[in-house]
Amino acid sequence: MTIDRAPGAVADLVERDRRLVADAAKIRFFPFAPVGGSGARLVDAEGRSWLDFTAGWAVTNAGYGDQRVRAAIEAQLERGTYAGLVSAVVEPAVDLADRLVAMAPIREPAKVWFGHSGSDANEAMARLVRRATGRPRILTFLGAYHGATDGSAALSGHTAQARYADSGTATKAPFPNAYRPSFGPDPAQDEAGCLSAVEELLVTTCPAAETAAILVEPIQSDGGILAPSPTFLQGLEAICRRVGILLVVDEVKVGLGRTGDWFAHQAAGVTPDLVVLGKALGGGLPLSAVIGPAEILDVEPAIALFTNAGNAISCAAGLAAIDVIEADGLRDNARMVGDRLMAGLRGLAERHGLIGDVRGRGLVVGVELVADREAKSPAARETAMVCFRAAELGLAVFYVGMESNVLEITPPLCLTDAEAEEGVAILDRALDDVEAGRVPAEALAGYAGW
Ligand code: PMP
Repeated sequence: MTIDRAPGAVADLVERDRRLVADAAKIRFFPFAPVGGSGARLVDAEGRSWLDFTAGWAVTNAGYGDQRVRAAIEAQLERGTYAGLVSAVVEPAVDLADRLVAMAPIREPAKVWFGHSGSDANEAMARLVRRATGRPRILTFLGAYHGATDGSAALSGHTAQARYADSGTATKAPFPNAYRPSFGPDPAQDEAGCLSAVEELLVTTCPAAETAAILVEPIQSDGGILAPSPTFLQGLEAICRRVGILLVVDEVKVGLGRTGDWFAHQAAGVTPDLVVLGKALGGGLPLSAVIGPAEILDVEPAIALFTNAGNAISCAAGLAAIDVIEADGLRDNARMVGDRLMAGLRGLAERHGLIGDVRGRGLVVGVELVADREAKSPAARETAMVCFRAAELGLAVFYVGMESNVLEITPPLCLTDAEAEEGVAILDRALDDVEAGRVPAEALAGYAGW
């Protein structure tokens, strides 16, 4: 792709964006104005190439600029752009629903609800399961991010939402954290402690008889890339079956191939009642879905409607992106390159005292930075500086976590070994520069992150 813009185009865009686009809709880590891309690389408004460890917050699983996704969008544009499925049958939506039902290991007969974002999907899911069970409560987890609308934020336990959303009928249980366990030094003890807390809540403040579902991220992502062992999800499934409540997995960020399976929960061998999808589902265009049993998704007609949801173009792009992930073996690639990437990052931990922990699965990897390894004190400012410096060196990477100190690595699933190595080398330099005090604090002005 040729970019013929004048030097200064990025600074100009950054300034216009600052003046014209609402801060309420932004988290900014460094000056970043991508205008195109290919594979796992982006090109910005001045033609500078970036290696992308973000996939735009885990959206571009099939990679940037894939010709097959593009051809599917163009072909659908040729055929027609009828908006949504509220009052008409939209063929690509029916085809995508067919595909998703076949992919998701849930109870038959399953159906699919479509929306635009992870937030509206979680909000619709909550309304549907409450309606279908006649129970108002939902049990979720501290640190979870389920969305930014009032209903989905209420389900969330991340500080970013806890600030402004009233939890209402959502009760938050502790989530396992092998690096910072709450229940004993051993990760297995920690998971057992979290499961006990869930059981206790289901007889105390969130009684099972009033509870529709447990909603869980198989890997808690915005909370800090916390990947519990299979035992934890298995334990939740066993509790749900025993007390008769639904198990809902939020696969918005980690689903669709990122962990090496189509869905992250598959590694635990559990069968959830509902699966929530978003982000990568539309192949880069807005699209979300809830996959679940007909008796829940049909509980009442027309109670979760969005005019443009399930529009033909987004569904055609989403189907093509799933085909690309399948045809190019990107689930296997995510697993293999993810393993090597994690090994490279663990190698960095031997040289950089700032790295407290490296964790994840496939191509969802977290690097937790601490000021002191013994005390594990979160190094939030240094994390922001590492992202800023990495950007100067040509790598896009964001951070997450309740303490804002976990680098989140979620690249396109077509990332190559060489690109993984290149990213690790850039992080190595960025860590060196931050540790040596070569990144001035003033550089972060206007880039507070979250
Ligand atoms: N669920 C999870 C697990 C997420 O990570 C996010 C976004 N970070 C959402 C839901 C909300 O998705 P969206 O921003 O598309 O509304």
